[in-house]
Amino acid sequence: MSKFRVLLVFLVLVAMAPLRAQVQAAKGQPQRTLDVYFIDTEGGQATLFVTPSGESMLMDAGFAGNQGMPDANASNANGAPITRDADRISAVFKQAGVTVLDWMVISHYHGDHVGNAAELANRLPIRHFVDHGPFSVELQPNRSAAFVAYMVVRDKARAIVAKPGDKIPVAGLEVQVVSSAGELITVPVAGAPGVGLPNPLCRDAKLKEQDPTPENFESVGIVVRYGNFRLLDLGDLTWNQEHALACPNNLLGTFDVFHTTRHGDPHAGAPQLVHAIRARVAVMNNGERKGGDPSYWQIVHEAPGLVDFWQLHRSAAGGTEHNSPEQFLANVNETDHGHNLKMSVRADGSFSMMNERNEFMKEYPARAKSAVTSSR
Ligand SMILES: [Zn+2]
Repeated sequence: MSKFRVLLVFLVLVAMAPLRAQVQAAKGQPQRTLDVYFIDTEGGQATLFVTPSGESMLMDAGFAGNQGMPDANASNANGAPITRDADRISAVFKQAGVTVLDWMVISHYHGDHVGNAAELANRLPIRHFVDHGPFSVELQPNRSAAFVAYMVVRDKARAIVAKPGDKIPVAGLEVQVVSSAGELITVPVAGAPGVGLPNPLCRDAKLKEQDPTPENFESVGIVVRYGNFRLLDLGDLTWNQEHALACPNNLLGTFDVFHTTRHGDPHAGAPQLVHAIRARVAVMNNGERKGGDPSYWQIVHEAPGLVDFWQLHRSAAGGTEHNSPEQFLANVNETDHGHNLKMSVRADGSFSMMNERNEFMKEYPARAKSAVTSSR
């Protein structure tokens, strides 16, 4: 083929590309999914939900500044302060096409959750804030900065104080609050599979002493339902509160995905809950050296019905015995930072999970009807 003909073919192809895209869109609607981005904030939390219609909800906003990053510098090359997690969250907004955030849920006011609430509000419009109320039970000077910055933004915004049992009206999703400000639901989540049944794991269940960080106790916890798919995210709620949600009866039902409580810290992760909810997939928002405790990992690993356990980081404490195989780890080495996990959920309850570090992907089929209603 002459150079001229190659050029001609190229030009024709370029000219036809928009046409082809239009034809494809007209022929069959592209697969529309609920997309969930588990964003790496080095042991904080930031989880973005984008519904098929484009409505968005961010659960928590990671650490402010540069916390948790090795070799931290106070500023970048231009002298501007480093906003590591805000930049990572913004990059995911861009990837997901989110230009207005519809819902910002702040589970509680520790810096690894409320961290960038104010910073993000400077970057894009946020239509609603949801939190456990305008008060924090912990206001030590070294802890309060992100909370105080958030309160300034909150005062000017539409803020909803979540109460257990409330629904957060995200269009296209069912989001139910199951904990907030230290209160828990006392009646089962309506219509959930396996809900309200006596939980045999309560008989030998152990309780733990309250740890000295009472703000975790205030966490807003949510149940997210999309079609046949269910996900549980309890923020940093405590072990004994998990117990109360699962004992003597399982008030939450069973799930497809368990977003592990409190980064895999042993102050949470009560097996009477983790084992009763029968999640097929667990996702842990740990850092290399935050959360990811071996005892917590083992409880999740042994949960009945669990197929895979994904982690945002390989846990240094977990060693070879208490980490998932590498393809399930978003960040493996000390030099790995900021790789996310992306889940795409269909209304029939099937979903895929993708490791953005290496694009390893796994499909999880819809559950058989009997499995959805099984009380075991
Ligand atoms: Zn936390």
